[in-house]
Amino acid sequence: MADANQDVSEKFKHIKTIEDLTARIREYHPQGDIKMIERAYQISENAHKGQIRRSGEAYISHPLNVAGILTELKLDLVTIAAGLLHDTVEDTHLTLEQIKADFGPDVAELVDGVTKISQIKFSNTHAKQGENIRKMIVAMGKDIRVVLVKIADRLHNMRTLNHMSFEKQARIAQETLDIYAPLCSRLGVNTWKIELEDLSFRYLKPDAYYDLVQKVSKKKKEREKYIEEVKTILNQNMKQAGITCEIQGRPKHFYSIYKKMTARNIDYDQIYDVLAFRILVDSVAKCYEALGIVHSLYKPIPGRFKDFIAMAKTNNYQSLHTAIIGPMAEQIEIQIRTHEMHLIAERGIAAHWKYKEKGGIDQQTEKKFNWLRDLVSWHQQVHDSDEFLETVKNDLFDSEIYVFTPKGEVREFPEGATPIDFAYAVHTDVGNRTVGAKVNGKIVPLKHKLRNGDRIEILTSPTQTPHKDWLKYCITSRAQSKIRSFITAEERKRATHLGQEILEKEFRKVGIAVNKVAKGLDYEKYIKEVGASDISELYMLVGYGKITPDKVIQRLAPDAKPVAAESEKESFLGKVFKEALNRKKKSDAIIKVSGQTDILVRYARCCNPIPGDPIIGFISRGRGVTVHQASCTKAFQIDGQRKIDVEWTGTSSGIRHTKIKVVSQDAPGLLKLMSETFTNNGVNIANAQIRTTKDNKGVCIFDVTVKDTKQVLKVIADLQKIKGILDVERVNA
Ligand code: MN
Repeated sequence: MADANQDVSEKFKHIKTIEDLTARIREYHPQGDIKMIERAYQISENAHKGQIRRSGEAYISHPLNVAGILTELKLDLVTIAAGLLHDTVEDTHLTLEQIKADFGPDVAELVDGVTKISQIKFSNTHAKQGENIRKMIVAMGKDIRVVLVKIADRLHNMRTLNHMSFEKQARIAQETLDIYAPLCSRLGVNTWKIELEDLSFRYLKPDAYYDLVQKVSKKKKEREKYIEEVKTILNQNMKQAGITCEIQGRPKHFYSIYKKMTARNIDYDQIYDVLAFRILVDSVAKCYEALGIVHSLYKPIPGRFKDFIAMAKTNNYQSLHTAIIGPMAEQIEIQIRTHEMHLIAERGIAAHWKYKEKGGIDQQTEKKFNWLRDLVSWHQQVHDSDEFLETVKNDLFDSEIYVFTPKGEVREFPEGATPIDFAYAVHTDVGNRTVGAKVNGKIVPLKHKLRNGDRIEILTSPTQTPHKDWLKYCITSRAQSKIRSFITAEERKRATHLGQEILEKEFRKVGIAVNKVAKGLDYEKYIKEVGASDISELYMLVGYGKITPDKVIQRLAPDAKPVAAESEKESFLGKVFKEALNRKKKSDAIIKVSGQTDILVRYARCCNPIPGDPIIGFISRGRGVTVHQASCTKAFQIDGQRKIDVEWTGTSSGIRHTKIKVVSQDAPGLLKLMSETFTNNGVNIANAQIRTTKDNKGVCIFDVTVKDTKQVLKVIADLQKIKGILDVERVNA
């Protein structure tokens, strides 16, 4: 085990010659085709001839050591050859074709992937982290080994970072901490992750780093003695119980100690759980036996026991974790696992290529790393980098919780996951039809946050469809992208439907059927021009308001004249369209339909929404989109199939009518006070109805023009302050 008990830079295992490298490979792969590796070295050395690293060494020392780092994970020969050749295509005359001809498609593909990643311009702002990882995943393509070579490349650059300018050191170290270390963590390659974190820490916060190194080394003697004591006690007890085991004890790595110090805002002396012990045994059963012995010897700390054997992490990690109060009343972390689990804990996904002659990865392992493949496919669905950041962030960085299906299967989620995340993890159809959820037998809201050990049951209905609000409740990329793609598809469908109705109606007015013009050369040319591939996409463009029906008619039926009967009264649609366009010229539209501002809308008379009201929209036959208040009872009766997303744009320059009802004492002078209040608030009275009730109260209904709900609330509040006024409310009709 690597000893964290020293400055990281002292741990480098520098490789000087190709013989060093092949010797290492022979240690774990005695039958391997070493000739291929030697050839790769020769070709790489030749290609890089004359290039010098900043350290003054010949360039070949870099690829040679990248290959050496790959042997630390005992990777297969294809990967190691790719490590030797990884910079040739980018920096030398060598071409991918030459590599392919010489070493075969696998090596060529790996070199190609690494070259592509090298060409990515990573953004150095923290906010662009998702974009960076997205690019990396795209470049990776199908073979995860591309990323392993790339990380090895980065690790060697980090090991030799002292030759760079301070500025570059900080930038590269930050990038390493942001992208490469989390990736290692996700791939389960713990040894690399630890080294990358400590190296980044050293260059990013040199003062804190060297301070900590010093403090840790000061207590070295004391600590080693303590570790020996604990190991002896544990060993004796395991022996007595007939358990053969290997026990390791070490301080945690610097960066993890530093994170603890900053998180708890304490100094090194105050941190007690800096030591971690590991008990490696032969079988799963022995793991639990060993745990029993540890807990009978030392008091376990409540809440710290975790069973990652029964519930493996997504990256395949398995182990028992516990924390105990040790012999000197100190907190100690203990991990118990089999030797095989340990191999995977240290090398993660790389462990699966061990000794494999033909490269590639077995199916079972591949299944376990499906999340990576998923990331690639989600990338294809989500085109916006920021959106992608949101979606992968949780998957990559958040801590995990484990919950149960009704059948007792375990599922893993990032912390903060909800029943919606769970439902989509089960199946897209389950997610799409979710109406509710039971957690541990109790009904919970869909935004309920799942906790470790919860048992979840999803309630579905065949008529349910995903709701936009769900995006606010779910955090996994899978759920997010499934919901988004469903909503987008629905909106497209509605826009297409709307566009078809509009176009058919407008064409009818000029006496032509749409399907008559929807053929021929002119038509083909036109739809290509507007970027549509068929008639339904043209409908969609009209539905979204990107093209007006007038334009379509002008192009497809230039000679068309309105049919006499209908020409007298201008069609409602035509008028609304013109008005909408005119309004757009004068002021911004105040409603967005499916994210578009240039679509025609009308306001329902039943509820008369004004900016600020929660609203919903419906496609009404031939009349564009009707906007209701979300709470309108009439809206509830409308067919849900016609629903479409609408929202206020927020640029409220439009003027809307609404009514305000005032009940007052029937006293003289009140009307004047009321009208002054309206004027002072910049509200115009368009009309007023005034009557007196039998019990001598005055009831006024003012028809006013307003900007938004805020203005209405203010004027209502002001009216209520007037002495003699009993009640003020906004009324819809
Ligand atoms: Mn390189």
